[in-house]
Amino acid sequence: MTDTFSAKKRSEIMRAIKSQGNASTEKKLIRLFKTNKISGWRRNSTILGRPDFVFPQRRVALFADGCFWHGHGCRNLTPAQNAEYWQKKIQRNIERDKEVTKTLKKQNWQVVRIWECEISRGDIGKLKSRL
Ligand SMILES: [Zn+2]
Repeated sequence: MTDTFSAKKRSEIMRAIKSQGNASTEKKLIRLFKTNKISGWRRNSTILGRPDFVFPQRRVALFADGCFWHGHGCRNLTPAQNAEYWQKKIQRNIERDKEVTKTLKKQNWQVVRIWECEISRGDIGKLKSRL
């Protein structure tokens, strides 16, 4: 497979996309928790899959899934260059997400996955119905 980016350049790009996405999404969520009067959340959980937030009392594990990395169909961001490479990577993430969800459910966690685009719209209905 031909690759237009060097391995180093590509990992720089990936890191930039990843860290930006996570930090701002987490901040937006915390703001939404406040406006919706949601409390009892914890960060930096070390349970399987490392959810972005957990609500220990309700045993809710909340994942904020980036639309690009987790393959949401809301927008087509797969770069034209190296499309096959990205699609494989995203497919692996989707499979891992399913596996994590299944395993956590077996351990009596309620798993809530909210898409980045839902968070941007301020829609955390999925979470509210579990709390
Ligand atoms: Zn989306």
